[in-house]
Amino acid sequence: MLENLKIGILGGGQLGSMLIRHAIDFGLSISVMDKDPNAPCARYTSFFTCGDPTSYDAVMAFGKNLDVITIEMEAVNIDALRELELQGKQVFPSPDTIKTIQDKYTQKQFLLSHNIPVVPGVAIEGKSDLYKIGNKLPGCLKKRRNGYDGYGVMVLKTTADIETAFDEPSVLEELVDIKHEIAVIVARNEQGAVKCYDPVKMIFSGEKFVLEFQEAPATIEEGMQKEAIALAEKIADALQLVGILAVEMFITKENKLLVNELAPRPHNSGHHTIEASTTSQYEQLLRAILGLPLGDTALRFPSLMMNILETAALSSNRLEKFQRLLEIPGAHLHWYGKKGSRLGRKVGHITLTDSTMENVVAKAETIRKILN
Ligand code: ADP
Repeated sequence: MLENLKIGILGGGQLGSMLIRHAIDFGLSISVMDKDPNAPCARYTSFFTCGDPTSYDAVMAFGKNLDVITIEMEAVNIDALRELELQGKQVFPSPDTIKTIQDKYTQKQFLLSHNIPVVPGVAIEGKSDLYKIGNKLPGCLKKRRNGYDGYGVMVLKTTADIETAFDEPSVLEELVDIKHEIAVIVARNEQGAVKCYDPVKMIFSGEKFVLEFQEAPATIEEGMQKEAIALAEKIADALQLVGILAVEMFITKENKLLVNELAPRPHNSGHHTIEASTTSQYEQLLRAILGLPLGDTALRFPSLMMNILETAALSSNRLEKFQRLLEIPGAHLHWYGKKGSRLGRKVGHITLTDSTMENVVAKAETIRKILN
């Protein structure tokens, strides 16, 4: 019986807490491990363990009484997950999938080996390598591991920028002339059934590479939509994925589709699926890893998702701002309840839904004014 299954998530951030919320609909209780005792999930499950998901011992101790283990972040200990799998636990996505994706360079090599178009890039060990290949600049430098929300990405325009570059194993990519950024979430189960959500368009803020908002449906050509979905399905099959996978892609100014990066877990680009789709990405993940039929991915309403970043104005006047934005029909607030957030940190999001994209965009403008 489902309710007797012991399910665990490595990572206890907002993605985990949204997964818990959907697990409740299926009568499931979820265990969570995160190294931060104040992680958002700590408040929503009585099975919260404070431990480091990158530690072999901590993951083994957490997993020993579980039946199914999944992730909401990629920085987890692969050896422990492999060992738990040998002991008969179900680990989804598989440790091999997580390992391939954990490192932006091995991820790229994997995609290339399956003829998936990616942004060309070379692996470098640190700054000294950069000085040797300075003729490849300008480029986009990315830490191989543990980058998120743009904190691990920098543009190097000339060799003068190398001085401030990351001095650790990274990938130097060609700088892409991006027309649009889109993402597709795909789910696959153990039987090989695959379902995709339609692409969303992601709009990033200026220099910081933090997602500002995203629109679903993505206003891109139909042919491009189909191509993006076909690529996501191909990647899910190539990985023999069990779970869900976000595939971030660039549409270049020459109308070429290139895969930017993969995330084998719930993702920012699927937040809107809670209110706007028939099945949320969180429910879809549970369906995929528990051997249930995959849900319908149809978009029910046009929607726009806006990240809320911590600002001085917001922290001093939050309640009044929330009162004003909650007066707007179709504005759904998700506040992550993070403790002690620094300025600029992602502290929540709002999903707007309405019958037309024009209405959604107009409401987003009002909300921007309220929040700023
Ligand atoms: P993160 O894992 O931190 O989200 P990404 O690899 O997705 O990092 O990069 C963050 C953002 O940086 C992208 O959404 C895009 O706006 C920009 N970016 C990434 N790679 C390139 C590139 N090769 N050329 C131009 N811009 C890039």
